[in-house]
Amino acid sequence: MTETFDREAAAEAIDAPGTPEEHWAAWAGLARLPVVQPPSGPVVVVAAHPDDEVLGFGGTMAQLPGPVHLVTVTDGEGSHPHLPAGRIAALRAAELERALGDLALREHRTYRLHVPDTDVGAHEKQLTRQLSTVLRQTGARLCVAPFTGDLHADHEAAGRAAAAAARQTGTPCWHYPVWMWHWASPGDPRVPWDTARRLPLPAWAQARKQAAIRQFTSQITPLDVDTDLEAAPAPAPAPGSVILPPAELAHHTRPFETVFI
Ligand SMILES: [Zn+2]
Repeated sequence: MTETFDREAAAEAIDAPGTPEEHWAAWAGLARLPVVQPPSGPVVVVAAHPDDEVLGFGGTMAQLPGPVHLVTVTDGEGSHPHLPAGRIAALRAAELERALGDLALREHRTYRLHVPDTDVGAHEKQLTRQLSTVLRQTGARLCVAPFTGDLHADHEAAGRAAAAAARQTGTPCWHYPVWMWHWASPGDPRVPWDTARRLPLPAWAQARKQAAIRQFTSQITPLDVDTDLEAAPAPAPAPGSVILPPAELAHHTRPFETVFI
């Protein structure tokens, strides 16, 4: 298949109606996944856009006993093409900082790499080098990155770069899905279920994650040209044209998270 066809297939998969969370909740396959424990040392968590890391791994991050090094690959400035990219980038960086505040990580540092949004694939080699440096300098015991089969080009490229950097530095690497819960279905043969593991979230970690997700106002409420970008976050997702509607968020507010190891 050509790359163009793959991109079109991926775009169609994400534009199509998603798998309802009730279908995932009813599937015994998820409940049966083996549980995995994160290490006690430093962990590097990679996100393609500022919110991926909280959606996919936020509840586990809140429980990590060691330092967390967050690498935000792009500024997510492409999420609202009708609004100025610089304002969106600043807004999303501020949302992430507030979200990390809600997660109340014991010790964390954020690295913003400013790779162009929607173009991570073109910067994969450079990104691999940068991630290798971060993994070495932090003495990371684990790298956590987007799923390389997420059917979102930036997520896949960031995941591949992280996997390559982890191989170079001898660091274990886990991958968290974000859009997979939308386009896949229980038992989906496109998903490597044999490497999937569960990370249970105690109620307090789940609550922190839910509070953190509510900070991503630009993704969970409609943003129009006259939206006051500096306004305080809305308390709940509003219906309408939003990037992460409630049906999508439902996949990310379960009492556990899932990674591929
Ligand atoms: Zn993303």
